[in-house]
Amino acid sequence: MPKRIVIIGAHAAGVDAAAAARKTDRTAQITLLTTQNKPGYSPCGIPFVLGGHVPSFDKLIVFPPSYFRMMKLDLRLETTATNIDTKAKTVEIQDKTGKQETLSYDSLILATGASPFIPPIKGKEKTGLHVVRTLEDGEKVDQAIKKGAKTAVVMGAGLIGLETAVALVERGVKTTVVELLPQILPVMLDEDMAKTVQEMLEGKNVNIMIRSGVEEFIGTEKVTAIVAGGKRIEADLFICAFGVRANTELAKNAGIATGETRAIKTSSRMETNVKDVYAAGDCAECVHVITKRPTLSQLGTTAVRQAKVAGINAAGGYAVFPGALGSAVTKFFDTEIGVTGLTEFFAKRAGLETVTGAITSKTRPPYYPGGLSLKVKLVVERESERLIGAQIIGGEEVTQRVNALSFAMQKQMTIRELAKADTAYAPPLNETWEPMVLAAEIALRKLR
Ligand SMILES: Cc1cc2nc3c(=O)[nH]c(=O)nc-3n(C[C@H](O)[C@H](O)[C@H](O)COP(=O)(O)OP(=O)(O)OC[C@H]3O[C@@H](n4cnc5c(N)ncnc54)[C@H](O)[C@@H]3O)c2cc1C
Repeated sequence: MPKRIVIIGAHAAGVDAAAAARKTDRTAQITLLTTQNKPGYSPCGIPFVLGGHVPSFDKLIVFPPSYFRMMKLDLRLETTATNIDTKAKTVEIQDKTGKQETLSYDSLILATGASPFIPPIKGKEKTGLHVVRTLEDGEKVDQAIKKGAKTAVVMGAGLIGLETAVALVERGVKTTVVELLPQILPVMLDEDMAKTVQEMLEGKNVNIMIRSGVEEFIGTEKVTAIVAGGKRIEADLFICAFGVRANTELAKNAGIATGETRAIKTSSRMETNVKDVYAAGDCAECVHVITKRPTLSQLGTTAVRQAKVAGINAAGGYAVFPGALGSAVTKFFDTEIGVTGLTEFFAKRAGLETVTGAITSKTRPPYYPGGLSLKVKLVVERESERLIGAQIIGGEEVTQRVNALSFAMQKQMTIRELAKADTAYAPPLNETWEPMVLAAEIALRKLR
């Protein structure tokens, strides 16, 4: 009898888990469930549709129905898993017509993702608050702009909040971002680096209010204004980007353990505390490469890497997830921003003593046209001299630099080794001295 694999979730983690399972076991019976009417799309592209860089939301569908047919995957759209019985190894499901069914599994993969979270703020029950997570959410924001929204407030200055704010400004919507903390991008950047990005955004007409927590949503039925940092701000459009919470209710009800990050606890094989039940993606925690502590990355890149491991193991193979560094990049207008590993702030919070090396350099020699400013900050653990984090802000090649530094951290490279890195140069492409190497030299000098 073929192995029965049930996957709850059919986006980044669910689809990649299914592909890995199929490649491991060509005969397995693989069923994917999603509550949504479209599978396998990229939510990461939503802000770029809103900003007009991608022509339509449909373009974000990376895995069309034909992919599922080709891979012999039984995809159930608009179907909700309502209960898991880990002893009987069954999942109860219900489709949009109300029809119920019980699926039996040999292996189960939880790829239930995460959902936007709105804190308990006065007036939260009113209508008119948007989030940006699903294609439907994106379409609603797009409709609001098309219907004439001229002003917007984005609540939360994390990656999603700021990408959305940039998109709104690109669409001609006057936008204010409010953030509770004293800096923008608090998970990605240290305060000094965040200031550079904030100044750039303000220069492009994104109005930013830091140290301004949302206190109240105002309006009779529909929100027409908010109070943040003691100020009343009226707008046509309100975007909540307070963050996301792992979807763990189904798992918890089935006795599947969550960890200190409140996401589903997993082993290095992405197995939960219950045998033959795996978890991957935004609903699952994993180990941080540097701190060796549980972490919740909630990035598409982590989701697909975890999912590959979960899929292989669920299908009877053997794979191990090495952990996450939280490597992330984005682009606001023309400025690229990237991070990998720990910021100075999070390193200190993890009890690590650090030194840093930061430099602002150019991406090409001064005589070559088009060179752009690039700021690199490296975080180094004082005792081991290991590189433990990097932040980069600049105009080009940030992703590949972040990737190089991520490889260096995975291989536990010291700052001494990085300062001697063999890098490439040609006038149209880079400076003779690679900015990452110059930043390493500065950190090394501080260590001496
Ligand atoms: C606007 C935006 C921009 C982003 N940009 C980036 C980026 O640039 N880089 C990056 O690395 N990451 C980015 N991310 C994060 C990335 O999109 C997520 O990490 C990734 O989508 C997580 O995938 P997932 O499959 O774990 O979860 P989800 O995409 O949340 O999918 C969860 C799936 O589970 C299903 N499900 C849940 N409960 C049930 C149930 N009971 N029954 C049946 N099905 C269920 C849902 O229907 C869905 O199919 C961005 C996210 C957003 C929203």
